Amino acid sequence: MLFAAVLFLFACKGGDAKEGTAAQRSPSAVTSTGFNGSAAYNYAKAQVEFGPRVPGTPAAQKAGDWIIRQMRARADTVIVQGFTYTTVDGKKLPLRNILARFRPELAQRVLYVTHWDSRPISESAATEAERKMPVPGANDGASGVGMFVALGDVLKRTKPDVGVDLLFTDGEDYGQFGPPEVDVLIGSKYFVKHLPSPGYKPLYGVLWDIIGDKDLRIPYEMNSFQQVPEVVSRVWQTAADLGYGDVFVQESGGLITDDHIPFLNAGIPMIDVIDLTYPPHHTPYDTMDKISAKSLATVGDVATALVTRK
Ligand SMILES: [Zn+2]
Repeated sequence: MLFAAVLFLFACKGGDAKEGTAAQRSPSAVTSTGFNGSAAYNYAKAQVEFGPRVPGTPAAQKAGDWIIRQMRARADTVIVQGFTYTTVDGKKLPLRNILARFRPELAQRVLYVTHWDSRPISESAATEAERKMPVPGANDGASGVGMFVALGDVLKRTKPDVGVDLLFTDGEDYGQFGPPEVDVLIGSKYFVKHLPSPGYKPLYGVLWDIIGDKDLRIPYEMNSFQQVPEVVSRVWQTAADLGYGDVFVQESGGLITDDHIPFLNAGIPMIDVIDLTYPPHHTPYDTMDKISAKSLATVGDVATALVTRK
């Protein structure tokens, strides 16, 4: 995704205060909603161990197959949208969106999205040699996948009262965010044109991207805040109720181009939950040691509470 404008307010970012609140929060491996952060971490690790999930590579083939197997073991229905995308350079990319559905019979649904591909280049790295390397994508790609598979564990045990759709998009991070955008957000743009049913209209959607940083801090994403503030309020209020007000901070973040934008453009009220204050972003250093089970537990607890709490 692209960070288009920086509007952070740093007033509350005292290091000492942060340590204190982190100690009070301290979610254990398994949260009150039953979400297991350690499991989510291990699922993310399994993704990273396939290698960078760059479209068209054997690693992407294997990782996508693995997600499909995991979700078939957990969800009621899994739909794989396979398609070939032609880049501006004429390259043909085999892509797959994976949609795992819980209680598909229910009309009232919540749609969660995360991308599972990883970026072919590391343009933010320090050296030219590193800039040509693919991004390992522990946080940018695998963190959301790990959270979704662990959420699948919870929803398999405890059926939600609302239908839940977990969409793993492909080709989010392939090309240039521009402007103009070229060869990015490919899977989400495809999905909004190929919805699972003609009248498909989730109550709301949440994109979960880059959510595993050890130093997790999530301000409002401002396209979300400006276009669907009611969804932002719902998610941030749920986080506050669970005691994560120091992570889901009520502050302005940037305007970020990410997978939620094609959904917003299609009239689906979706927000982006993202922590872009992540120095290894789009470098070869986006590795498992930068993310934590605790951060995944925090975000996973919120994602679980939104669809299971009365
Ligand atoms: Zn990225």
